[in-house]
Amino acid sequence: MEELAILGGRPVRETPLSYGKQYIDQDDVDAVTRTLTSPYLTCGPKITELEQELCRITGAHYAVAVSNGTAALHLAAMAAGIGEGDEVIVSAITFAASANCVRYCGGTPVFADIDPETYNISPAAIRSLITDRTKAVIAVDFTGQAVELDEIRCICAEHNLVLIEDGAHSIGTVYNGQPVGSIADMTCFSFHPVKTVTGGEGGAITTNDEGLYRKLSLFRTHGITRTMEEMVHPTDAGWYNEQITLGYNYRMTDIQAALLISQLNKLSLFSKRRKEIVAMYDEAFRDIPEIQVQKEIPESDTTRHLYILRLRTELLDCDRRQFFDALAAENIRAQVHYLPVYWHSYYEKLGYARGLCPEAEAYYESSMSLPLYYALTDEEVQDVIRAVKKLIAYYKKNK
Ligand SMILES: *Cc1c(COP(=O)(O)O)cnc(C)c1O
Repeated sequence: MEELAILGGRPVRETPLSYGKQYIDQDDVDAVTRTLTSPYLTCGPKITELEQELCRITGAHYAVAVSNGTAALHLAAMAAGIGEGDEVIVSAITFAASANCVRYCGGTPVFADIDPETYNISPAAIRSLITDRTKAVIAVDFTGQAVELDEIRCICAEHNLVLIEDGAHSIGTVYNGQPVGSIADMTCFSFHPVKTVTGGEGGAITTNDEGLYRKLSLFRTHGITRTMEEMVHPTDAGWYNEQITLGYNYRMTDIQAALLISQLNKLSLFSKRRKEIVAMYDEAFRDIPEIQVQKEIPESDTTRHLYILRLRTELLDCDRRQFFDALAAENIRAQVHYLPVYWHSYYEKLGYARGLCPEAEAYYESSMSLPLYYALTDEEVQDVIRAVKKLIAYYKKNK
């Protein structure tokens, strides 16, 4: 058996691989440079162009570009009318921002457990948590796989709930032939550098509802309007604008938008390569009993943002921490997505107790994300596979 690097053996690779990395080419650089020397660095034509492009890609009627994915979620929660006393059902396995947006509005996140095979929010769990205070559901397309939108939309329609889809992972994913972004009441995207396409920072909300679109646009820019029909004191004076509600400055710059438009031109390329890498991992891991491969629902044609390695720790003589550290020593730098949100001490202090979502907690204790990004080469994918197999061979119980 090969000696593990963590025990003094030779690592599978000489240089480290991280779990995610942006891909920037000369077209991206040129697009940004052109915008830097244009008249508009913000509130300019690139924002409109990006919003039109997002509508084209997602099939949504409206898109609102914002400064980041967290701002997108905050505005969506505001537009949904979430406030003091309202409950919002949120996936337990997600980045904290998916729940924090409810707190920004004074509402209460109610965490729903995940499906143990897809790792997405369980529709049955959503049903069981609905009360007469429930106002909305925030469903996260975890790893890029679409949530069970048909069923979740039915639940929301039945109970008059707003469905906010957190699509931070899922740009490019198609559900039953329809792109993510055109299905939920609002879909929030993130364009952070680890995500499938990036603007450095950036976010957007898409919707088919004109009323929501108007609110989102208003909240993005301080609550200030230049539309006479929206003013309490309408005038056509050239200088006049009026703040009619409390909003924020969540605008994206034209520099970010230029980069994003250029990145979105490569989305189908990115998507194709990510699918290839996922297929290579799945094929290598499918027959290893100590590994659970993520289940893909047939409705979702997924552009995967994350590849999850889930260990069946009961078949191994190590825990997730030991495996993670041993993998790092082989120069494969995994990451863990995510701590169940309510395990963060902030939420703990609000009174959320451990044990709330058993499937989410079991998932967390056994999982890590392997390298997955556009520029990852076949050889690098093979290095990751070799490292995982090396560790499994060493740690498995039934040798
Ligand atoms: C990245 C991410 C966010 C937040 O996006 P930012 O652009 O980093 O603010 C929200 N939800 C999920 C699931 C994410 O992965």
